[in-house]
Amino acid sequence: GAQAAPDYLEGMNPEQRLAVETLDGPVLVLAGAGTGKTRVLTTRIAHILATGSAYPSQILAVTFTNKAAREMKVRIAGFIGGDVEGMAWLGTFHSVCVKILRRHAELVGLKSGFSILDTDDQLRLIKQLIRAEGLDDKRWTPRAFANMVDGWKNRALTPSEVSEAEGSAFAGLGRKLYADYQDRLSILNACDFGDLLLHVITVFKNNPDVLADYQRRFRYMMVDEYQDTNIAQYLWLRLLAQGNQNVCCVGDDDQSIYGWRGAEVDNILRFEHDFKGAEVIRLERNYRSTSHILAAASHLISHNEGRLGKTLFTDFEDPEDVKVNVASVWDSEEEARSIGEEIEALQSKGHALNDIAILVRASLQMRAFEDRFVTLGLNYRVIGGPRFYERMEIRDALAYFRCVVQPADDLAFERIVNTPKRGLGEASLKLVHELARTERIPLMQAGFQLCQTEELRPKPRAALKGVLDNVVRWRGELENVKHTELAEVILDESGYTEMWRNDRSAEAPGRLDNLKELIRSMEEFESLPGFLEHISLVMDRDNTEDNDAVSIMTLHSAKGLEFDTVFLPGWEEGLFPHQRALDESGKAGLEEERRLAYVGVTRAKKRATIWFTSNRRIHGQWQSSIPSRFLDELPADHVEIVESQSNYGGYGGGGYGSSRFDNRDPFQNSYSTPGWERAKKAKAAQGAALGRNSNSGGSGFKSARQRKAGPMTIEGE
Ligand code: ATP
Ligand code: MG
Repeated sequence: GAQAAPDYLEGMNPEQRLAVETLDGPVLVLAGAGTGKTRVLTTRIAHILATGSAYPSQILAVTFTNKAAREMKVRIAGFIGGDVEGMAWLGTFHSVCVKILRRHAELVGLKSGFSILDTDDQLRLIKQLIRAEGLDDKRWTPRAFANMVDGWKNRALTPSEVSEAEGSAFAGLGRKLYADYQDRLSILNACDFGDLLLHVITVFKNNPDVLADYQRRFRYMMVDEYQDTNIAQYLWLRLLAQGNQNVCCVGDDDQSIYGWRGAEVDNILRFEHDFKGAEVIRLERNYRSTSHILAAASHLISHNEGRLGKTLFTDFEDPEDVKVNVASVWDSEEEARSIGEEIEALQSKGHALNDIAILVRASLQMRAFEDRFVTLGLNYRVIGGPRFYERMEIRDALAYFRCVVQPADDLAFERIVNTPKRGLGEASLKLVHELARTERIPLMQAGFQLCQTEELRPKPRAALKGVLDNVVRWRGELENVKHTELAEVILDESGYTEMWRNDRSAEAPGRLDNLKELIRSMEEFESLPGFLEHISLVMDRDNTEDNDAVSIMTLHSAKGLEFDTVFLPGWEEGLFPHQRALDESGKAGLEEERRLAYVGVTRAKKRATIWFTSNRRIHGQWQSSIPSRFLDELPADHVEIVESQSNYGGYGGGGYGSSRFDNRDPFQNSYSTPGWERAKKAKAAQGAALGRNSNSGGSGFKSARQRKAGPMTIEGE
């Protein structure tokens, strides 16, 4: 007889069920935002476990952020009512690769305890190499080089695989410098982020037995946000999946937003080609958003040409019939003030702050909100940025810990050797560097050797020996003393804490607090190495305290998330679409920006408000802004214009009149035209005067006639 479906399958639609239950062979789920792709993956894992098809440790599941991985674990645990501790291979590409690489480091010339450089260290190392070649690092910048190398690594190219033509970039030295860089990393027993994948691919390619081992281990493989994988990630996945072909990828070409980082939508097409007979499943029902929100997003994205195309519908009829709101304000301060007031209004009506997000295009937009929310005493968290760990005092402290854990970590040593100041001048340090280079040994080792000689004058020699002896002693305590205590000891004995205590600057007390907070945050880890490993992977960590807080993040980090209420500030030309994207990638750049807008709008379940200012300060300069062209691309029937937050209570009807914006109107004489229309006209006229073609690279501005009839005119005017 018919068996009742297990709990976890309840409510799934037939296509979702198919995607969950087709365990054997390749599956590609290609579907729009909010159609349950991530939910399918989670349910699929639950299904694999519930049917005993594999042990937790045999499932490989790749998510885009650590946060997403954590959430997935929680959901699976909920489904199967058991623990998912054994799900060792659920994480980001990077976290999975780091795990694999630790086991096989020696196969690519590393030792298992290798460090993972952060951007800062990476750039300093590159700078040394560039200078060593006698290049001017102002013209040939470390960042440009790092980007170039990242690009190669995203395509899984080792130095010898880079083509002659490409390799001759960077003053003809591109490939050589890349090789030198890899060489230096290996001497330092370190790798950068891109290496994590590249090295694992190299291990797999050169060691068929190791690959076969992992092919057998991973009985089922899954990838979320597949549209944003790059070539290296794809190759990695293909190598693993060629074993049993049980690979299921879910994605949405309309949400591909990492092209600038090497993501390839073509991977979707490649999948069908490389995995013959793949089951391609489309999901068309959106379970997340109201019909207004979905219509607005769908209409917006329909302006893109390069699409695989799909239909979407929702049954979610909002009883309050809230349209997507568009609001204009004077500047970013007012934007923050208004959004702050709206959030407080929502809060007073019983909405949880956790259900509210502010999604910005550029992180520079965050400051205004942070400042405002601090003033209001409104809880917020910033998601997606390693803000805390980026602070100077935190980086210094971490460098100390790294030296203790990994004595070959030259970059960490460089950072702390004369911090606090110990009277070690450039000249002394240069001697250490030279010895390290000629002997091909780590700096600390070179330092020790140098201290045995008379080469350094007594004072610097004593200072250097002091640091080195300290590090050795602390290292000796690694096994004996609890890591949090040891961390405190290190910061005290090194004189680092003292340095900030004696500092008279206004920030010093905050820095001391941060150091305390750092040590507190180590509590949940078992050891110093464990903690450092975590730090190197927290690029997308957030402070997930359970307390109720508004989330602030970039649109990029909002991928995959959902909130009842979403605020989308800064929809202005130049900011969104971002000028750099337009300049660097033209139409493709514009389309990627539009996908980003689509991602933004589709994060909202019930309420989405889009904001734009008439004036914005970018890099210290005031500019009068033009409303984003994306505003013109929203469907009139699903959009409501509000001029200020004071109308918030008036969703769904009237209330423009009382706008505070009117009182502050910068264009005193022209009340009859909405702010951005005026700004546009002004800017268009300005563009014409400069002989610029405002239509280049995109839809440009509509003609005056079109504009009048367009969707964005205010009713009743
Ligand atoms: P995105 O493209 O934004 O990542 P997605 O396709 O991954 O979206 P999910 O996040 O999995 O979509 O699902 C969106 C919302 O719809 C979630 O709240 C999810 O729990 C809910 N949902 C998905 N499928 C169903 C279903 N069959 N019944 C009820 N709710 C569902
Ligand atoms: Mg998802």
